[in-house]
Amino acid sequence: MFQTTIAGSLPKPSWLAEPEKLWAPWRLQGEELISGKRDATLVWLKEQEDAGIDIVTDGEQSRIHFVHGFLERVDGIDWAKKTRMGIRNNRYEVDVPTVTGVVKRKGPVHTDDMRFARAHTRRGLKIELPGPMTICDTIADAHYGRRADLAMAFAKLLNEEARELEALGVDVIQLDEPAFNVFMDDVKEWGIAALEEAVRGLTCKTAVHICYGYGIDANIKWKETLGSEWRQYEEIFPAINNSRIEMVSLECAGSKVPMSLISLLSDKQIMVGAIDVATNRVETPEEVASVLKAATQYASPSRILGCSNCGLAPLPRDVAAAKLNALAAGAALMRKQMA
Ligand code: ZN
Repeated sequence: MFQTTIAGSLPKPSWLAEPEKLWAPWRLQGEELISGKRDATLVWLKEQEDAGIDIVTDGEQSRIHFVHGFLERVDGIDWAKKTRMGIRNNRYEVDVPTVTGVVKRKGPVHTDDMRFARAHTRRGLKIELPGPMTICDTIADAHYGRRADLAMAFAKLLNEEARELEALGVDVIQLDEPAFNVFMDDVKEWGIAALEEAVRGLTCKTAVHICYGYGIDANIKWKETLGSEWRQYEEIFPAINNSRIEMVSLECAGSKVPMSLISLLSDKQIMVGAIDVATNRVETPEEVASVLKAATQYASPSRILGCSNCGLAPLPRDVAAAKLNALAAGAALMRKQMA
């Protein structure tokens, strides 16, 4: 009970990319970049292990952006044909690449990185892939016509990738779907179906991470418009509970998400966000434990994991490391209390 894991991303060391900046370009090239990414992966595997995190990640050290890192290895996308698009329901305006033909993987995307990570840790290992709906909300479409069709096409590619990762010994395949908190009707119409296609036939654990985003200004401003209680999860959790995804994350640290929404996930393992990613202040183990304890009102301890609200990538490196320690120490406190 109270196993721990993180949403996924961790800061890049300063020799790999500019710190405290989301999506900063690489500072290395060619062979140096390849070994730089591996060194960074080793650093964070060690930090997570030393902190006592049970299900570790590679900290997403080998990609700049959680969606584009996958799309770069997909055919059928014209990167020169940029379309100006308001994404996450116009929360950000960005120039996105355009789908101009049938999408197809050029080859394995993350297998080399995960083979390396697998070789260097005996803990549970989790990989994060972008969810089909979030991909569709991060790219323009000039080929498929319907978003649901585009999502299903990407879901099939994600499934091929996920099966290869599972075969390498990855223990948990997580789909990141921040768009699920924005397009609640689409989630029910086709989002869950696309998610299930992405995990079809897998025997390893499957997870979905749905969040209110990184602690950046655009997200903080958006959160201010969501009212005194954030109930977006309420609309989609019943459908997720009926899906075959086994683990679901929600933001509980410093957020206005009512903890009672956990009761809508009665058949799932819950990754309870007990680390706030929108502040550099490091939680105490007692604070982490109190969030996990509150979650036990709505789910048995065996179904609760301690997690971060979202990725830790934009934080200073020492802050992120300290938050890993707080998370694991808080979960350990809870285990002791329950013993
Ligand atoms: Zn997130």
